[in-house]
Amino acid sequence: AEFILGLTGGIGSGKTTVANLFHEQGIELVDADVIAREVVEYGSVGLKAIEDHFGSDILQADGSLDRAKLRERIFTDESERLWLNNLLHPMIRQTMLSSAKNADSDYVILVVPLLFENGLDSLVDRTLVVDISPDLQIQRTVERDNVSEAQIANIIASQISREERLQKADDIIDNRGEIADLKEQVNRLHQYYLALAASKAP
Ligand code: ATP
Repeated sequence: AEFILGLTGGIGSGKTTVANLFHEQGIELVDADVIAREVVEYGSVGLKAIEDHFGSDILQADGSLDRAKLRERIFTDESERLWLNNLLHPMIRQTMLSSAKNADSDYVILVVPLLFENGLDSLVDRTLVVDISPDLQIQRTVERDNVSEAQIANIIASQISREERLQKADDIIDNRGEIADLKEQVNRLHQYYLALAASKAP
């Protein structure tokens, strides 16, 4: 696809729910979380680079990445965290972009939780933010994941602020209402994006 939409929003805002509604309209999705796992999967160039750098201790017995160990290494050493980001971020960027270009739908959606935080908005033609209040983010995520409110509050605090995210958004979906209300907003935006994609097509 020529036209790339970046979909983002804070934790528990409804990104996955919204993405699935666009998918129901025939729009292909590229999920940043999936790609972040693919670039370090068994046998990948990324995993080989990590093994060369940290030693084979960083692998589990089956040869796959020991994520807990890697998390610990970069948590306790800022320079290692930077090294890892410098390795993975360009790979993730490249893979997302080529997957997006290869998508066959009229436009394609990159679903990226940290779109603005990681500067990935530069890859897309337009950004769509799913917005709810922090109270609702906590309520829905606690209900979904059975985690503590404090844990979610910490994650919210680590992400870009609601105000800044909304200020950067080209388009906004208000997800405080019911799913029927969400569908209506998605379908309206879908028509709009079809028109934008058609005017960008070669
Ligand atoms: P994360 O950032 O954690 O991956 P997300 O942004 O992808 O989350 P979802 O998983 O889509 O968010 O939604 C969070 C939870 O809220 C899910 O359990 C989902 O079913 C629920 N939810 C989403 N939209 C609504 C809504 N309009 N009304 C009620 N529940 C909703």
